[in-house]
Parts: sequence; structure tokens; C-alpha cells
Amino acid sequence: MRNVHHFIDGAAFAGTSDRSGDVFNPNTGEVQAQVGLAVPGDLDLAVQAALRAQPGWAGTNPQRRARVMFEFKRLLDLHMQELAELLSSEHGKVIADSRGDIQRGLEVIEFACGIPHALKGEYTEGAGPGIDVYSMRQPLGVAAGITPFNFPAMIPMWMFGIAIAVGNTFVLKPSEKAPSVPVRLAELFMEAGSNLGMDLKGVLNVVHGDKVCVDAILQHPSIAAVSFVGSSDIAQYVYAQGTAAGKRVQAMGGAKNHGIVMPDAELDQVVKDLSGAAFGSAGERCMALPVVVPVGQKTAEALRERLVAEIDTLKVGLSNDPAAHYGPVVSAAHRQKVSDYIQLGQDEGAELVVDGRNFSLQGYEKGFFIGPSLFDRVTSGMKTYQEEIFGPVLQIVRAESFDQALALPSAHQYGNGVAIFTRNGRAAREFAARVNVGMVGINVPIPVPLAYHSFGGWKRSAFGDANQHGMDGVRFYTRVKTVTARWPEGDVADSSFVIPTMR
Ligand code: NAD
Repeated sequence: MRNVHHFIDGAAFAGTSDRSGDVFNPNTGEVQAQVGLAVPGDLDLAVQAALRAQPGWAGTNPQRRARVMFEFKRLLDLHMQELAELLSSEHGKVIADSRGDIQRGLEVIEFACGIPHALKGEYTEGAGPGIDVYSMRQPLGVAAGITPFNFPAMIPMWMFGIAIAVGNTFVLKPSEKAPSVPVRLAELFMEAGSNLGMDLKGVLNVVHGDKVCVDAILQHPSIAAVSFVGSSDIAQYVYAQGTAAGKRVQAMGGAKNHGIVMPDAELDQVVKDLSGAAFGSAGERCMALPVVVPVGQKTAEALRERLVAEIDTLKVGLSNDPAAHYGPVVSAAHRQKVSDYIQLGQDEGAELVVDGRNFSLQGYEKGFFIGPSLFDRVTSGMKTYQEEIFGPVLQIVRAESFDQALALPSAHQYGNGVAIFTRNGRAAREFAARVNVGMVGINVPIPVPLAYHSFGGWKRSAFGDANQHGMDGVRFYTRVKTVTARWPEGDVADSSFVIPTMR
């Protein structure tokens, strides 16, 4: 049986505990590897390695740090297919989608290639007589990232791409369900350094684990900042514990993204967009679109009919089948959870139009597959509407007016993404301005901002002030130091007992 090791101080490390977790192949349902689960002592070794490496790395001039990012990006491109196959084999998403996962992370590395420009400070010459004021952005020290199973490449790179480029060293605690790609990323990062004649050991470390390791991160006195992405209850816990321990914390949580379909929308396109956004990656995306809100009776009937026909064309298959639209979900427990939500939806009185529960792939009956499901006449009081299902389930919630449609995502506990489909620019503009959600798509079903913008939801989809990547990422992983400098000339000035002003 293959073992997935930690990666500490530039080398694989088996860990000091006998705690381990199963890594499944979701296509077959079989255990394909064991991953070591860290105890606090293992985490401490990684933090000590990061602490040793940090002053030298921060002292490396920013253009040399950027060159490491350029080389790392080149290696990611070179190894794209190998990484995508590894990612699919543990997560279950199809290979083209895994390539997208890596590509989205790679784009953050591209942004990090420009870090010297992003780090430039501010300078005021002559703020007072002979006085100049300037500010600089300095790294925090050692930062940690805790990531979910559903983007094993993109989300780690959201975090360490920026954190490291600005001069921190990093400890990554990826999801124990899909642990192999994060280790490969760390190995490639070391290779990027050695290709440039630099020893980067300790700059990026990977420690696998569960709550035990997360709690050790939150309590470790030498970790200055923690970035978390995962489900909301745990995000809130991480935010509360981390900030109470004096750390800077950003914690992204779950989602329930709505797609509003106005009567003037281009329905053929909307149906294609909804199908990809609701069922792609088996719905295991925080920017999936699991709720569609048609406005008006006519829109609802037309949309429902076309969605049923579209769902009929979907192919659920192995994650390495190039013809499959989506593959299995990540685990048997998750498949059961999605099935339970479908049952609950029926019990709550929603109309189950398409039931994906009985799907099974011939020859792979033990794989974690689940077919696409469609509910109609879902209402805002239902638990299946209020909670995140995170599976291939699309819910139709009918609205009578624009205002009613706008109120649904605005009042929902989650506020990650939302989309409106319309040909009316004024309606789209008003929707974008008024909706109480962090990321908005206008005829764009999955409005994930590009790397040089920043990513973050509102309400229970994100705790903390800073978004991921873009300039918010730079701000999160640095702190500003402001220097006021005077080079006096002439006579000694008298003491002053009032607050200095520069009039
Ligand atoms: P999860 O919350 O179960 O796990 C996330 C991380 O927390 C993992 O590293 C895990 O090991 C750790 N963890 C698990 N249980 C813990 C506990 N009790 N205490 C401390 N740490 C614990 O999430 P997941 O199932 O891996 O990922 C899916 C969730 O992530 C969904 O809710 C999805 O919406 C969310 N997500 C959000 C975003 C975003 O940017 N908002 C992006 C991707 C995924």
C-alpha cells in the first residue's frame, strides 16, 4: 500500500505517530493509499523548519523570489497532465476539470511573478520640515494554510503562492482526502529553487492531518497567520480560535449559489450554463450553482422542460473517461449525505423531477457515483434549500418578480456567488448593486474572479476581512511599517510637550 508522507524541510517525512487515514479511489471505492495524520510534534517540526528558512527567504530580494515563481510556473505547465491524473484519481473529478483546478492555481503563481511591483511601499517627501515619511510591506513570518478536498491544487496555491512570494515561509495542511497533489506541488517548488541554484528547504512544508493538526496550528505560538477554506462551521471555529490566539485569520466557508433567470434570458444558453455549473465536478464546488430561480411562470415551465432534456444527455463516468461530464463524489459518506438530502427534499414536499440516486456504473458498482437530480417547487423554508448539499442536485425555486428573486440569495445564510441571466443591462446592473452576495456573475454562471482580483464571499461564506489572492492576498500576508525620518540641521530644537503636528 502506498503511503503519502508529510513534506518537511525539503524532504518526505513519515511522521512520529501511528495515526493514519484511508485515501480512496472514488472510481472503485477501494483504498489506494494511507496518509499519515500528524500529531502536534510533527507540526512543530514543520514550523521549526519554516522558522529557520524565513529570515533568509525574506532577505532574498523580491525579483529573485519572483524568479522562483516563474520557474515554478514553468514546472507546473510541464507536469500539468501528471498532476491532473493524480488529482482525479483521489478526488474523482474528470481530468479536464483537474487541469482547470491546476490552471486556476497556476494563475495565482503568475500573479506572484509580479510581486516586486505589488510590494512597493509609499513615500512622502517633505511631509514636514526636513521630514520624510515612508511605508513598507513586510512579511509576517510563518503562515499556515488549511485547505478542503475539492480543489487540491488551486486553493493551496491561492494561499502559498502569495504568502511565499511576499517573503513568508509556509506550512500547508491539505485535506486528508486528497493529499498527494499538495505534496507534488511542494516537491516541484523545491525543484524550482534548485534549478536556480537556491536551496528552498523549509520555505514550503506540507503536514497532513485532521482536527488534531488543525488545533495544533491554531495554538502554535510561532504561526502568525492562518488561511482556511472549508465548510462554514469549521471556518467559524478556525476564525474564533485563531484570532483568540492572536493570529491573523481569513476563513472561507460553504455556499449555496443562486442563478436568477429573467424572462428575457437566452434560455438555450442558460440551460447549458446551468448544467455545467450545477453538475460539473459532481456539484462539489463552492462556486457551483445548485439553485436556479426562474422569474415568472412561463420562464419556469420552459426552463424546467429544457433542463430535464439536458440532464438526459449527461454522462456520468470514470474520472479518466474523456467523454464523462462528471465523475464520482469523493467518498461513500459524502454520497450517502447527498442521497439523504434528496430523501429529505422529497419528505419536505419538493417535487423530485429527476432522481439520480439509483445510478450505478457498470463494472464500478462500488464507486462513489451518483446521477444528476432535479427538484422543482423548492421553497425558502425547506432545510434542503437552506443548507449546502455539495452534490449533483439542482433545485428550482420559483419567483414571481425580480424583487422576489433578488431577495432569495440576499436573505440566504451563505453569500458566496450568485448569477443573473438576462439581456437587460439595467436589470443586471441593479441586481449587481443590490444583491447581498460577494461575487456576482452577469450571464456568467461561475463568477470566480481571476487571480489578480480577489476571491471571497459574504455572510457565512467567509469570516475575516481579507479575500484570497490579488492585492487582498498581498495585504493579508504582509504588515505595513511606516517610518517617519528627520535629518535635523542647525541648532538643537527645544523639547516639545504637545503631540507633534506638521503644520
Ligand atoms: P471541511 O470543512 O470538512 O474540511 C476543510 C479542512 O478542515 C480540511 O483540511 C480538514 O482536514 C479540516 N477539518 C475537518 N474537520 C475539522 C474539524 N472538526 N476541526 C478542524 N479542522 C477540521 O471541508 P471539505 O469537505 O474538505 O470541503 C468542502 C467544503 O469547503 C464545502 O463546504 C465548500 O463549500 C467549502 N469550500 C469553500 C470555498 C470558498 O472559497 N468559500 C472553496 C472550496 C470549498
